Amino acid sequence: MYLAGRLESVSLPYNQPMIHIVGVCPFCEVGSQAFRRCSDGTTIVVACNECSDVWMDPAYLDQAHVVVPDHRKLILPGTTLGLDGGAAGWATIEEIGRKGGARYITRSAER
Ligand SMILES: [Zn+2]
Repeated sequence: MYLAGRLESVSLPYNQPMIHIVGVCPFCEVGSQAFRRCSDGTTIVVACNECSDVWMDPAYLDQAHVVVPDHRKLILPGTTLGLDGGAAGWATIEEIGRKGGARYITRSAER
C-alpha cells in the first residue's frame, strides 16, 4: 500500500533542519507524524515522514482521520495541495505556532 513518497527523501531548504513531531504513525508504525507545510506555503498539516499519510488536524491523529495522498504525486485528495514542490517543506516552529499547533508538539528532531 505504501509504495512511494517518503517525505524524508524530499530535498528541503537548508534553513529548516528540524521536524516537529506530534506522534508515531498508526499505519506504518515507524514513521513520525510531523507538521508539514503544503505547496501553497500556508496550509499546515501533519504528515508521516515515512509513508506520507496525512492528518488535517493535529487533535485527531488516529486511523479514522487519516487522509491518504496520491503516494506518487503527493497531492492531497480533492485539492491542489502538494506535500512536495512549491513552498512545501517541514513546518517551522513559527508557522506551527501561528496555526495554534505548538501545544501538540511532543518532540523536535533533526530530519
Ligand atoms: Zn506512516
